[in-house]
Amino acid sequence: MTETTEQAGPDPAATFTELYGGEPHGVWAAPGRVNLIGEYTDFNDGFVMPLALPHTARAAVAPRTDGVLRLHSSDVPGGVVSLRVDELAPHSGHGWAAYPAGVVWALREAGHPVTGADIALTSTVPTGAGLSSSAALEIVTALALNDLFQLGLEAAELAVIGRRAENDFVGVPCGIMDQMASACCTEGHALHLDTRDLTLRQVPFDLAAQGLTLLVVDTRVKHALGDGAYAERRAGCEEGARLLGIPTLRDLPYDGLDVALATLADAGADESVIRYVTHVVGDNHRVEQVIALLDAGEVRAAGPVLNEGHRSLRDDLRVSCAELDLAVSAAQEAGALGARMTGGGFGGSAVVLVEAAEADAVAGAVTKAFAGAGHAAPGIFAAIPSAGARRLS
Ligand code: ADP
Ligand code: MG
Repeated sequence: MTETTEQAGPDPAATFTELYGGEPHGVWAAPGRVNLIGEYTDFNDGFVMPLALPHTARAAVAPRTDGVLRLHSSDVPGGVVSLRVDELAPHSGHGWAAYPAGVVWALREAGHPVTGADIALTSTVPTGAGLSSSAALEIVTALALNDLFQLGLEAAELAVIGRRAENDFVGVPCGIMDQMASACCTEGHALHLDTRDLTLRQVPFDLAAQGLTLLVVDTRVKHALGDGAYAERRAGCEEGARLLGIPTLRDLPYDGLDVALATLADAGADESVIRYVTHVVGDNHRVEQVIALLDAGEVRAAGPVLNEGHRSLRDDLRVSCAELDLAVSAAQEAGALGARMTGGGFGGSAVVLVEAAEADAVAGAVTKAFAGAGHAAPGIFAAIPSAGARRLS
């Protein structure tokens, strides 16, 4: 089909010894994720349904007591970044190193005695593809420090720390899904997460046993439009909730949608707000539909729900792009059971549910469609529902 699912990458323990001398006290891993259904719902207190990928960020780490934090990624040029933990300040740059440094900052802000560390990182999660390479980096750092400093935090608490790092230190206004997925997913399952109170359920999602494959199509494009559009969608959703007199769009049940849309129109809401509300309430409902189908063992029947999710992201929320629409339509025309863009949109990846026996043909059709449209070849691999963050050694 396609590419290897998981490249081994360099050994972070060997890199650690080369860079810092001595042995790391351990090696940890945290995965990227792909979201099956439930998009732009997490900042509305809604439902999401991600699964962990076999691709991981790995970290070889030793603690320090002298306030020094040294960070290295074998995937970016520039060598070791050396910082002082007591001088970490939000929005102070540091490029990629802001993600792990932000975790140290967030842990210390929460009162945890993290007194420094040497960290050697490497990752096989594609970057900027909507597969949460950033959360993988945060969660692997948080888990390692949790173990080494014996902080006693639970997986969900580590996710909250990772999100705080990304929101308040790096300055990216993401919801909690990515960090929860990286921290809490389990092998062979999708994670049904209620982002309001972080209650979760592991939903069995054994694709292989059903003769199915879930392909990820990485379009390898990322349109600059994305950042401003995210903030604008977020503000529009908040405006919708305000006009409806509810705390968040999560509080609007699906069977109340038509009445709510009429109320919004009467209140003079912008037509964009009406579309955003339509999408968010619809996608929360689609998460519940997919879960019911998975629980009933009717995984194939989730395909049309994915298709409808894409239509709504394209037409209601308007966060798709030509490459994502092409990936989805080419897959659908080649016989996929269902397909949708996943993640924030404006590039990044799509997911395609397909009969395992047809996975190669569908992947080939998508690649051919990209070539025909003059786009660079997409990266396509099978998303095997994998384990969340863990200690490797
Ligand atoms: P996504 O999380 O969807 O991959 P983001 O824009 O949220 O995309 O995060 C990507 C950023 O995370 C990169 O620009 C880089 O700063 C950081 N990052 C991810 N993986 C690595 C890595 N292996 N080494 C260094 N930095 C990384
Ligand atoms: Mg990210």
